[in-house]
Amino acid sequence: MSFVIKLKWFFKERWKSYVLAITVMTIVTLLTMIPPIMIGKTVDEIREGQLTSESLTQTVLLLVVLGILLYILVYIWIMSLFRNSALIESILRKKLLTKLTKMTPSFFHRNTTGDLMALATNDVLAIGQTAGFGVMTLVNTIVGVSVVVVMMVFLISYKLMLAAFIPLPFLALVINKLGKNVRVNFLGAQASFGKMNDQALESISGMRVIRSYVQEEDDISAFDKVTTEVLDKNRKVAIFNALFQPSISLIVGLSVAIGISYGSYLVYQNEITLGELITFNIFLGMLIWPMIAFGEFINVLQRGSASADRMENVLLQESDVKNAEEITKVGAPTSIEMKNLTFKYPGSNTTSLERLSFRLEQGQTLGIVGRTGSGKSTLLKQLLRQYPIDKERLFISDIPVEQISLEKMKGWISYVPQEHMLLSKTLKENIKLGKPDATQEEIDRAVKMASFTKDVARMTDGLETLIGEQGVMLSGGQKQRVAIARALLLDAEVLILDDSLSAVDAKTENKILHEIRSERAGKTTLITSHRLSAVSHADWILVMDEGRVIAEGTHEELMFHGGWYKEQWEHQQMEASLD
Ligand code: ATP
Ligand code: MG
Repeated sequence: MSFVIKLKWFFKERWKSYVLAITVMTIVTLLTMIPPIMIGKTVDEIREGQLTSESLTQTVLLLVVLGILLYILVYIWIMSLFRNSALIESILRKKLLTKLTKMTPSFFHRNTTGDLMALATNDVLAIGQTAGFGVMTLVNTIVGVSVVVVMMVFLISYKLMLAAFIPLPFLALVINKLGKNVRVNFLGAQASFGKMNDQALESISGMRVIRSYVQEEDDISAFDKVTTEVLDKNRKVAIFNALFQPSISLIVGLSVAIGISYGSYLVYQNEITLGELITFNIFLGMLIWPMIAFGEFINVLQRGSASADRMENVLLQESDVKNAEEITKVGAPTSIEMKNLTFKYPGSNTTSLERLSFRLEQGQTLGIVGRTGSGKSTLLKQLLRQYPIDKERLFISDIPVEQISLEKMKGWISYVPQEHMLLSKTLKENIKLGKPDATQEEIDRAVKMASFTKDVARMTDGLETLIGEQGVMLSGGQKQRVAIARALLLDAEVLILDDSLSAVDAKTENKILHEIRSERAGKTTLITSHRLSAVSHADWILVMDEGRVIAEGTHEELMFHGGWYKEQWEHQQMEASLD
């Protein structure tokens, strides 16, 4: 029932197709009762010597017409019912992806990639199966059994029916017991299969590391273990499956044996005719599938409900950064200001930012430097609104960010993360990710600003070169410059470079920063870097340590006051002169 409630929206939308399918299925079941009755009648006619060629031709013709009619009707219900399966699968996948695109990092922390992949594949399939195959088995059971029973009672003999039904409770038992075993083992096999997939994924993506640490043998034996597990579980499924079919045949055979023996007795007692006995036994055979279908229905429904639960659980999770209820309209950001912002990552018990304040006017550049782990990236991420923060701490154009729409804010920002993210597409597709309709001219300009033109010229297919998964075909510095070109193409109001040039040499870095300064005049930029020369031109520089600002000012001021910045600068200048 909970399955129906959870997917009420779907059944509500598609009720017409369900009504159509169920009606047609009922008609089909009723129609399939006709051939056994005709056969019985014909046998009786033969026995009584009344069979004329005319009535035989009529019967045959009727059966042929019936065959054609059933063909059409079955086509109709299969189409209308199973289309729903495909439809709900596609709707759920879309819903899921839409959800994923809106969620913040803490959601992905709670739900691993493996879980989400399983949800998008296995669970979606299970729900689709319940909405199609499950409904079919339920209708088959209810309609199939009741129509056959009614036919047996009214057309033949209720006594014979009751006698033949004696073994059927055992059938229910077998279906329940063995069916449960099949199901449990099947689920186990699926879980092991999932584990094997994860392991394979990790082995393949980590192959280079595995080889360089000479862990091949260990990796192979670990994989061996999971494949053996999958094999064992599947073998068990096969065993129970193999037991299942013959048990059903055995019980049905028993039922038929009673039907024939007691039926023959009734024929001799003249309570039923020979033809009716034959009809009855055919009816008996027609009960097998509805019985099995009931087991299948329970099975599919259980899996479908579990999947629907999991799906709902994910779809109902709210993003922990909510869009503003009262949205204040703002034009281009004229300033960015933080006032005493303290921040802790969700689930972490140490503060990553402590009472941070700064103000940046439109067109200015902010440099952020400091030891590794001092909170530079964390500070930049606040502007991306990925984590919930206290109210009235972060302001854009002097308006608290809580009152600014998330989409609008994201639209202003172009962000180059510290760990680059490239797609296994062509260079060009990677670069125009944020602006799919960019012209060739714009792309060339962004590529030039990122000092990437020469690299492109050297690639076999230029901008159309496929760069492989995560950009494996590119060097570290090349990947960074692709990411920069991607960000520069947007020409956004605010550019955030999080240590984005760490893998390029100092000279190239200077060139790129120079380009950015001249091309982005009047726009705001935030840069973090371990190389202080990258921020020395900034209007304001924050020196961070353990989430706090320990010094700030322009390059000259910081040099004048001495401390970490001055030491680091001199150290780096000396190293550079040695190169
Ligand atoms: P680096 O120079 O190495 O890039 P950083 O200054 O950018 O360092 P941050 O990434 O801001 O440092 O990290 C600051 C602190 O926050 C670190 O102590 C880190 O362990 C913690 N931290 C970073 N990301 C998370 C996260 N997702 N969840 C919990 N803690 C985090
Ligand atoms: Mg960082």
